[in-house]
Amino acid sequence: MVEDATLVNAGSPRPQPNPGFPTAKLVERRDVSEDLMVIRLEPEEGPLKFKPGQYCTLGLDGIERAYSIASAPHEPWLEIFVELVPEGELTPRMFRMQIGDLISLRPRAKGLFTMDQRVHHHFMVSTVTGVAPSISMLRSCHLEGVQDHKFYVLLGASYEDELTYDEELSALVVTNPNLLEFVPTVSRPNEERNASWRGAKGRVNSITEQYLNQFELPQDDTMIYACGHPGMIEAVRDIVVPQGWMFIEERFWKE
Ligand SMILES: Cc1cc2nc3c(=O)[nH]c(=O)nc-3n(C[C@H](O)[C@H](O)[C@H](O)COP(=O)(O)OP(=O)(O)OC[C@H]3O[C@@H](n4cnc5c(N)ncnc54)[C@H](O)[C@@H]3O)c2cc1C
Repeated sequence: MVEDATLVNAGSPRPQPNPGFPTAKLVERRDVSEDLMVIRLEPEEGPLKFKPGQYCTLGLDGIERAYSIASAPHEPWLEIFVELVPEGELTPRMFRMQIGDLISLRPRAKGLFTMDQRVHHHFMVSTVTGVAPSISMLRSCHLEGVQDHKFYVLLGASYEDELTYDEELSALVVTNPNLLEFVPTVSRPNEERNASWRGAKGRVNSITEQYLNQFELPQDDTMIYACGHPGMIEAVRDIVVPQGWMFIEERFWKE
């Protein structure tokens, strides 16, 4: 269990954007749990150009870190799903931000963890904040009315309330069954916090092979994406690469 964000905030000065960089204004903040928040940023110099799946670089008090963009390019804000690392340098400062505060934003988005257009099946395995690139790709494909690509999103978290985008993804399955299959799973099903959970159980890497088989995906027309926790990525890689699946990963930190 992580430290309470309100304790992290207590008595600390307001963080400042890094001088010499463009800034973005915090225009919305949704606290999902004590250590997870979804924020929306309005770049002050106009929209940031990016491909769904790419990340931006945010900074405060001289510190910079990479954040995958959850919003799609057509949306007027940059949406970022942030996990608090209590002992970290930047995230405690981000969690102290209030509406109207500025954060520095490097002018170029980066990253190769983007939708592979050579294939039509996109099997995406993620943990918590690692779902962000999938959200950007799906919102974009939904808007464009994409017909010939299908996503299979497996999303793992310790607790049900950390799944965050599960309502949006479940709704998309109903309205666009040809675009998305969605499997949320919790890794601590027996804990009180998951008392009402009725979905899949176990770590997302432990259900990966089962769903790969269940969806009967063609190996030569499927890309497997893994994003988030490095341990999960290693585990998924160890299952799918020896079997000959095409695989791409985005690790959020090093273990
Ligand atoms: C391409 C890319 C995209 C990313 N996208 C996101 C994103 O969308 N949302 C997001 O919250 N983070 C994302 N990250 C991680 C982010 O860049 C920071 O590393 C993270 O927010 C921690 O920053 P910090 O300064 O608070 O901690 P740091 O001072 O950088 O780290 C402190 C320690 O915690 C470890 N650590 C870092 N993150 C975590 C974590 N989540 N859980 C456990 N230990 C961790 C570090 O390895 C280090 O040992 C991404 C990273 C990369 C490389």
